[in-house]
Amino acid sequence: MPEKIPQKIKSLRKKTEKIEKEAWLLIEDAKTLEELDKVRVGFLGRNGTLTQLLKTIPQLALKYRPEAGRLANALKRKLEENLREKIDALHKEKEEKGLEIDITMPGCAQELGSTHPISQTMAEISRIFKNLGFKVVDGPEVETEYHNFTALNIPEGHPSRETFHTFYLDDGTLLRSQTSPVQIRVMQKEKPPLRIIAPGKVYRPDATDASHSFMFHQVEGLAVDKKINLADLKGALTVFVREMFGKKTKMRFRPHFFPFTEPSAEVDISCIICGGSGCRVCSFKGWLEILGAGIVDPNVFKAVKYDPESWSGYAFGMGVERIAMLKYGITDIRMFFENDVRFLRQF
Ligand SMILES: [Zn+2]
Repeated sequence: MPEKIPQKIKSLRKKTEKIEKEAWLLIEDAKTLEELDKVRVGFLGRNGTLTQLLKTIPQLALKYRPEAGRLANALKRKLEENLREKIDALHKEKEEKGLEIDITMPGCAQELGSTHPISQTMAEISRIFKNLGFKVVDGPEVETEYHNFTALNIPEGHPSRETFHTFYLDDGTLLRSQTSPVQIRVMQKEKPPLRIIAPGKVYRPDATDASHSFMFHQVEGLAVDKKINLADLKGALTVFVREMFGKKTKMRFRPHFFPFTEPSAEVDISCIICGGSGCRVCSFKGWLEILGAGIVDPNVFKAVKYDPESWSGYAFGMGVERIAMLKYGITDIRMFFENDVRFLRQF
């Protein structure tokens, strides 16, 4: 005679079967881990259907409790197992798809960049001199002592060759401390006449402050031709300063010394802030120094095997940061290199 199943247990079994069926369908239907977690909470969460059922067991008569507990716990294990399998399946599916793409997410806006103020200034300098017949050339940033110093008539023992003025590399080369070695490289390769400018980075072991940086930019200029003189230099630079800083800008030469030019001059422009009457920017002098220039020293021509009797030339070099700071009224050189988009966005 088959054992008589009590009514209480019969109804409990029915309930667990119903829950199992419901849960199985919902687990199968879940498309994402989030959906699946909602299913889990619906059955096994604090107020979940199965949790509620388990809570009724202690209210049953003592003799029914073991069987009721066995049924409910078997269902709980079964549900947890189904959930785990589905989680694995969803993870696997995600991996197979590669990146999960949610097309409802807002897109990443691409911000349009702008040309860096230093690049803009170099482009403007290049444009002006190209109109005067100059060719833009490039040279290496790692240089030999010969190109950076010796060929430019800077003798051994000159202070600029000291280690605290130049970055030397282990193999005896150096990071160029000026763009002037490009003059030498071009003259070694090409026959005169020539007109070149060489924009680029230079390096000096200077402590960084508002007006110094261990890396900055220069533009070197060189013209070699028959009978070139100071008036030609002055003419080219006058065109440059007027185009760069405005038609009313005045220019003056102050005698100076550079090893690679003779005579040499430092070139000032009338202060672009006060127009020459004196202000804080020009230290109340009315003039701003913007570059160095001069007539090419015959020793430089000899180093590149140009005949100083037949050829003459002028050279100049300017700091791009200085020109940009004056043009745009920037007071701290570090702003160019900090990559602060609030600054860069203004150009
Ligand atoms: Zn001034």
